[in-house]
Amino acid sequence: STAAELPTLDASKVTCTYTQTPRAVPVVGSPEMASQKVCTDHMIQAQWTVSTGWQAPSLQPYGPLSLAPTASCLHYATECFEGMKLYRGHDLKLRLFRPQLNCRRMLMSTNRIALPAFDPDQLLALIVKLCATDGKKWLPKDRPGHFLYIRPTMIASDPALGVERPKEALLFVLLCCFAPMGDMSGGIKLLASQDDMCRAWPGGFGYAKVGANYGPSLVAQGEARKKGYHQILWLFGDDCTITEAGASNFFVVWRTQEGRLQLVTADLAEKIVLDGVTRRSILELARRRLTGTSEGVAAAAAQLETIEVVERKFTVFEIEKAASEGRLVEAFAAGTAWFVAPISQIHFRGKDIEVPMAKGASGAYAEFFKKSLQGIMWGSHGMESHEWGHVV
Ligand code: PMP
Repeated sequence: STAAELPTLDASKVTCTYTQTPRAVPVVGSPEMASQKVCTDHMIQAQWTVSTGWQAPSLQPYGPLSLAPTASCLHYATECFEGMKLYRGHDLKLRLFRPQLNCRRMLMSTNRIALPAFDPDQLLALIVKLCATDGKKWLPKDRPGHFLYIRPTMIASDPALGVERPKEALLFVLLCCFAPMGDMSGGIKLLASQDDMCRAWPGGFGYAKVGANYGPSLVAQGEARKKGYHQILWLFGDDCTITEAGASNFFVVWRTQEGRLQLVTADLAEKIVLDGVTRRSILELARRRLTGTSEGVAAAAAQLETIEVVERKFTVFEIEKAASEGRLVEAFAAGTAWFVAPISQIHFRGKDIEVPMAKGASGAYAEFFKKSLQGIMWGSHGMESHEWGHVV
């Protein structure tokens, strides 16, 4: 039979087995909460083989996987994943933020490493099922503003060492406890990557959320931490093009030599930058000329000068020049994990570039994007029913 006739991923077929040994939810502020090791009671799993297609998914107790030591993912990096959050709102609703985008990006990532295709809406339905099952207990109503981290993952599970397209795969989704976001208002310090450490390159896979992008970045990240920096600013090529900051997209606000105010981030054309959900949302908010749906946000937007939105190749030398000419206004990192984090300093080839805004507080634009997006995620600032907030 052809692949088209085989069963596709179907969330309506999910079978549910509930845990007999429910575990305790970590106390707020406890080391367990911050350990990123404590997962909720259940997980989703779905198996695929090239000859049978997708089997019925299951919701089952969270626990270890059983894999052959020859499994493809353990040898050939046939693994991809997503990162999203389930938010307990200030209005006490549970929400996802634009989850369709993550599910589509997951499909794009699986394509890059020869893992099987699926309907992103079916993955979303499975994620929602898991969130609805564990969300109430693990994000209790007395914890508004808290969240669980959602990790959808796909691995090739073929128990054979042949270097070839996977014939078996496992999709799983887990929910992991996270401490509430720390205060980043002091600004993060970035260390620009050296020529011998490159995150992504044209023709590679920087645009995909494959595990192979992350393991090799940890040496540089470890060095940065040791030297007192929070993250690496990933540069590319001889001209030191700016790509991303850690596992976040990078934004700068500057004034051009002609005096125009611009919000600048790397474009996606060369496929070396991840199409971040936060990145995209910030660009869309800025292009809508900063109009919010709520009065509070609209009032904040009205205080801000209109800003030109620019996606293009730009370099660390341009930032250095803008800083030295007093035209650098703000810089910030944007992603699910660190959200919108102001940048206070960039260390590049022995010199520190000081970003003026971050001495003590976020810049006005970072603050505006943060407030608007938080309003949508947590149902506050009059943003309770925004189309980007997906109530579970
Ligand atoms: N770049 C990289 C390399 C990332 O891993 C992430 C986190 N997914 C991001 C950017 C930010 O993307 P998002 O806003 O979708 O979390």
